[in-house]
Amino acid sequence: MKNKLTLEEKTAFFAGANYWETVSVPRLNIPSLLFSDGPTGLRSVNGEPATVFPVGSAVAATWNLPLIEEMAASLGREVSFQGVNVLLAPMANIHRSPLGGRNFEAYSEDPLLSGKTAAAFIRGLQSEGVGASLKHFVVNNQEFQRLSINAKVRERALREVYLTSFEIAIKEANPWTIMTAYNQVNGSFMSSNDYLLNGVLKTEWAYDGLVMSDWGGTHDTAAASNGLDLEMPGPAVHMGDKLYAAAKDGLIDESRLNDGVDRILRLIERTTSMPKGVALDVENDQYQYAEKVAAEAITLLKNDNKLLPLNKDKLKKIAIVGPNADVVMIQGGGSSHVVPALKQTPFEAITSLLVNEDVSVIYEKGIDNETMPAPADYRLFSQTKDRTKLGLLGTYYDERGEVAVQHSRIEEKHFEKVGFANDLNKLTDGKFLVSIAGYFHPPEDGLYNFSMVNTGDASFEIDGDALMSPDSEQKSELMLADIIPGSVQFASRELKAGTAYPVKLEYRPTDNRFQYLRLGIGVPAPCLDNALAVVEEADAVLLFAGVSSTSDQEGQDRDTMSLDDAQNDFISKILDANSNTAVVLNSGAPIEMPWLDKAGAVLNMWLPGQGGASAVADILFGVISPSGKLPMTFPRKLEDNPSYAHFPGDKTVEYAEGLFVGYRHYDSNDVDPLFPFGHGLSYSSFELTALRAPIEITVLSPEMKVSVLVKNTGDVAAKETVQLYIAPIAPEVDRPAQELKAFQKISLKVGEEQTVTFKLGKRAFAYWDTVTGNWDVDPGQYEIRIGTSSRDIRQTHIVTLT
Ligand code: BGC
Repeated sequence: MKNKLTLEEKTAFFAGANYWETVSVPRLNIPSLLFSDGPTGLRSVNGEPATVFPVGSAVAATWNLPLIEEMAASLGREVSFQGVNVLLAPMANIHRSPLGGRNFEAYSEDPLLSGKTAAAFIRGLQSEGVGASLKHFVVNNQEFQRLSINAKVRERALREVYLTSFEIAIKEANPWTIMTAYNQVNGSFMSSNDYLLNGVLKTEWAYDGLVMSDWGGTHDTAAASNGLDLEMPGPAVHMGDKLYAAAKDGLIDESRLNDGVDRILRLIERTTSMPKGVALDVENDQYQYAEKVAAEAITLLKNDNKLLPLNKDKLKKIAIVGPNADVVMIQGGGSSHVVPALKQTPFEAITSLLVNEDVSVIYEKGIDNETMPAPADYRLFSQTKDRTKLGLLGTYYDERGEVAVQHSRIEEKHFEKVGFANDLNKLTDGKFLVSIAGYFHPPEDGLYNFSMVNTGDASFEIDGDALMSPDSEQKSELMLADIIPGSVQFASRELKAGTAYPVKLEYRPTDNRFQYLRLGIGVPAPCLDNALAVVEEADAVLLFAGVSSTSDQEGQDRDTMSLDDAQNDFISKILDANSNTAVVLNSGAPIEMPWLDKAGAVLNMWLPGQGGASAVADILFGVISPSGKLPMTFPRKLEDNPSYAHFPGDKTVEYAEGLFVGYRHYDSNDVDPLFPFGHGLSYSSFELTALRAPIEITVLSPEMKVSVLVKNTGDVAAKETVQLYIAPIAPEVDRPAQELKAFQKISLKVGEEQTVTFKLGKRAFAYWDTVTGNWDVDPGQYEIRIGTSSRDIRQTHIVTLT
């Protein structure tokens, strides 16, 4: 096949055909491939709804590799059915700072947990014939100056922390593509980094897949020589004609060109060899996995006096308070954002779980946590005045000359949309108008705030009053800074409950590349006293707090690790008013908890995907026992984190903490975390005994088996993750106090016991030797530590390497 291609055709393969597709060669029947974002699910480029799975940090919190693999396979079936060949996922970047804007998409501060989780995801996805794109290679750990920042990281940290995460995923699961990071590493853009692409990735690790740039992350034609196989998106800016000219002038090796062509042809073969999906029974497939994974991710951080689970037979009145019970954040923002196929709030899930019980459930929001109006809630809209059909009705027009032709109608339930109906987009080249109309039903009297962010032109009117139009005053807005060009419009109006106000939202995209529309509505501020009143009367209180619709976002780092003062104050007041309160946190990354001493129970539900609400309800009422474990440390305060003094840098960012990322720092420097890495409680209890391992092995072949007996000594069936750490005793080189080297999650009935066996090899003991440029193991003593968190070690054993 390759021999039949002309030089022009060969070079054309090095750039996309358009935003999401590779080039085809029809005369040789070489098809184009379609890419789409991940990792939270399939982000349809046409705005179609899809299953929203838990975000990366939540997936990692399960520590359950077989489950992650099954989840990704079910996602693969959904992706394949939609005709997408490569899902732009998973993300194996390390959580360097708790403020990293995309931490929620990435897995962990630890390279072993991150790499193994990514590998499980890749295996599952690719088993369905869908290619993974492991991203963003490498050292992509912040959003500030994300397109240009130069990350300066020394060789050992690069190898032992940042590269190891990718190395494990690549060696264990061979992703069919890899996406390079936007940033520079040690002075060279990753899309053109000869040392890391040609050297480490393709030569040392013998990677045989395709390397593509992040969107707009290619900077020069030389990138092709330096190891990049595909500039994305297309059409070509740096490849195409420029690469063809360079090839003719002999500026690029022919063997490199042929190698790039082999890689794209291999990808085509890999992603088109399986029959394309079958119609899905969503109820039994992805939905089920979205919920199962959420249930294993949710992490019980504190549970004094067994406050949780709540016993529904003993309660008469339950108060639910806080903003996230009704507007739950199931995912973060940016390119991973999926239009949800299903929406359920924790309040709805709890009410439906208790529907046949003799217990009353009252919800009072008490406080709002949105800094700008959140995406409008479809439940406040109806297509007809009588409110029988919720949502609005969208009418699409294509515009030929003066005649507007009505094209199609769909029900509009999503007021944050990326991409619009595909057939229309194709027919009109993105030159259409959608008019979304119906009625707005204010839940109470008061001042309503509206906001709109969009590409192209958008307008909004209520009751005949044009509140926002393309000509309205716009404020520049940080949200999705790099992704959504533009600004935000604000408007407000007094409205009365009980009235159905006619509304019309119109949107006209500029083209079919990046269509985005977000209509926000802020309802009148909730009343704190109402919440306090129901809390005082309740037998038990569930308080849902956390991040809002603009906090966990691609394109911007978090500016704080704290919730807003008003929310912290609210939590404190509720805890004072009723001590039988469980705090449920809704966040993709660590947050500070100044009220922790007062709280009996704290449960972290992460950004749990569409199954999160029912999973959290099941855990709160003991239908299942929680089994999530933190994939990152929760520091007491931001200043404690090791990157604090060097994040996010300016034009460059120094990785001055070196190897001491996350718990490697807290454990080596005796810093007390709020909750340690690997922590997560259960409703049951486990006993770990009988550690068996050799006492001596050789440095030349440092292989050993370690086993431990685990018993469920509590009174409910539950899951536990057994974690193995290695602590070098008196090492000759600088090494972290301990590092995670193996883990396994098991499920045990009451009284049941099981032996867990780990196999350790050279890498478990090795460090990167900068003198030899290799992994080396030093003789000496090493402590093997087995526990249920990095700070709850139950069995230790010393092995001597001779
Ligand atoms: C993001 C990638 C994403 C790509 C395509 C970029 O801005 O960094 O993660 O896959 O856009 O949407």
